[in-house]
Amino acid sequence: MSEEGDLRAEIVARARECDAAGLNRGSSGNLSARCGEVMLITPSAVPCDRLTPGMIARMPVAGDYGAWEGPLRPSSEWRFHLDLMRARPEIGGIVHTHSPFATILAIARRPIPAIHYMIAAFGGPEIRCADYARYGTAELSAHVLAAMAGRLGCLMANHGALAAGPTLARATWLAHELEALAHQYYHALVIGGGNLLTDAQIAETAEAFAGYLPGRD
Ligand code: 13P
Ligand code: ZN
Repeated sequence: MSEEGDLRAEIVARARECDAAGLNRGSSGNLSARCGEVMLITPSAVPCDRLTPGMIARMPVAGDYGAWEGPLRPSSEWRFHLDLMRARPEIGGIVHTHSPFATILAIARRPIPAIHYMIAAFGGPEIRCADYARYGTAELSAHVLAAMAGRLGCLMANHGALAAGPTLARATWLAHELEALAHQYYHALVIGGGNLLTDAQIAETAEAFAGYLPGRD
């Protein structure tokens, strides 16, 4: 299969993986992957059990902003997917979810602090929460890009979460990890809070990850 054919099949498989793991349900969430000069992205409002590789939309990364090709219109969140890929050349895959515990923290607008060393995989000692704006808007995209500065994940106020990586495989892995951190933080709060790791301890972990990158595939 061509690179694009492989990526289309992978987007469908990863969407189903997120659904099966409870990170998304129905048509909540959306996924994208960079394929050379174009971004491949899930169509809007299609539940993943009905999604097929042929339904994935294509959008040019540079050039005609918002142009798309496909049998169905791209995800309503194409702006933050495209804006992230335009601003961050190192990003090759993006997974947006409404995963349960990340969304609870996003409703409380509570960023995730350094409760566990795995937060280092997101690029720093805190996972920020993007300010609220209606889904699908340019304003939401601007808030997401600000919260993602120097990071590979963020919460989205009263909405959900986002993970990005050099590949879609890695972005999906981080989407699972983000939900795990949110689950851990929520329960740590329930028992009265926890002890946080220092910035130096997170930096040390990030250095160790450079030699042992968890979840690589
Ligand atoms: P789409 O079905 O348009 O991708 O929207 C789902 C969603 O999660 C919006 O934030
Ligand atoms: Zn959403």
